Amino acid sequence: MKEKRIYNFNPGPAALPLPVLEEIRESFLNFGGSGMSVTEVSHRSAQFDEVINDAIERTKRLLKLDDKFRVLFIQGGASMQFCMIPMNFMKDGQSADYVNTGTWSTKAIKEAQIQGKTVNVVASSEDKDFSYIPKDIPFNSDAVYAHITSNNTIKGTQWASFPDTKGVPLISDMSSDIMSRAFDVNPFGFIYAGAQKNIGPAGVCMAIIREDMLEMVPDSVPSMLKYTTYSSKNSLYNTPPCFAIYTVQLVLKWLEETIGGLDKMEEINRKKADRLYSFIDSSDFYRGTAELESRSIMNITFRLPSEELEKSFVQKGLENDLGGLKGHRSVGGCRASIYNPTPPEAVETLVDFMKTFEKENG
Ligand SMILES: *Cc1c(COP(=O)(O)O)cnc(C)c1O
Repeated sequence: MKEKRIYNFNPGPAALPLPVLEEIRESFLNFGGSGMSVTEVSHRSAQFDEVINDAIERTKRLLKLDDKFRVLFIQGGASMQFCMIPMNFMKDGQSADYVNTGTWSTKAIKEAQIQGKTVNVVASSEDKDFSYIPKDIPFNSDAVYAHITSNNTIKGTQWASFPDTKGVPLISDMSSDIMSRAFDVNPFGFIYAGAQKNIGPAGVCMAIIREDMLEMVPDSVPSMLKYTTYSSKNSLYNTPPCFAIYTVQLVLKWLEETIGGLDKMEEINRKKADRLYSFIDSSDFYRGTAELESRSIMNITFRLPSEELEKSFVQKGLENDLGGLKGHRSVGGCRASIYNPTPPEAVETLVDFMKTFEKENG
């Protein structure tokens, strides 16, 4: 039993900013002077309208989206998007490009293929166990879209810059790095992110769609699976996950008002990642698993000299109030997920712990 909050390096659901959790606690029984909890108000009420619209406006300001972009909230996680994207954007006879950089890209490809869609895997880093981001990718000019995974949560790699698809709309799964850095949204036709890594709790996926992409949606797609439904009804066609959206709104408010926007957030995130990587690189005991140029600033993956030691590291970490350091069950090893809410002190404490563990076991 822990008496206090620990430093949480979970990959997702993951740490949330403490001020956000405190605001939720404060407002939980009487939200916005409504005399009700946010979990009790109607999704058709003025109070909830304010929540969802504020979340949308903050997203637009943070990402510098102009009026041709719409912000949507959809259930089913990022995984639902794997099937909705081909369903909405790819008709018979058309094809799409996918870059395979790990577990999540592989799943996205599979969901398009299940539907009998034509998928061109134009590049893959599977040859080296997904430890890098491919370069010089031969994108097809007649593809309806090109799909990438901007940050590979499990393998610890991230696109340092986005590829030039020569006008073909870029689609990215940004589940584990949305709002972690500033970038130019203009090449993107569609962006999606399960909230539970960087911007909120589980239960909602944020989607950002460029207006012209809405015209690609076939009538035959069922209402709940159609982006046009979410767009025309402001994500209120049916009951949305109100509490999750409310939490996202508060996280975005924290990002804008406490942190000061994405440039600031990125600066903090890069410092945190540099601190951890430079320590790993200076040690003969710990070994990073991603290639240098492809390293993620969100998920730092590393190995110890043996699986035995890795197990002990994760266990000892938890005993020292450092949680979630276990690598994904499919790859083993260790992983520190240092999303936006993870404070620099958490990384500093982790590095101290790593030094001590090395002394005792190296
Ligand atoms: C976690 C994750 C997913 C899966 O998200 P769900 O919301 O659980 O469906 C997909 N893509 C990436 C990059 C992820 O990190």
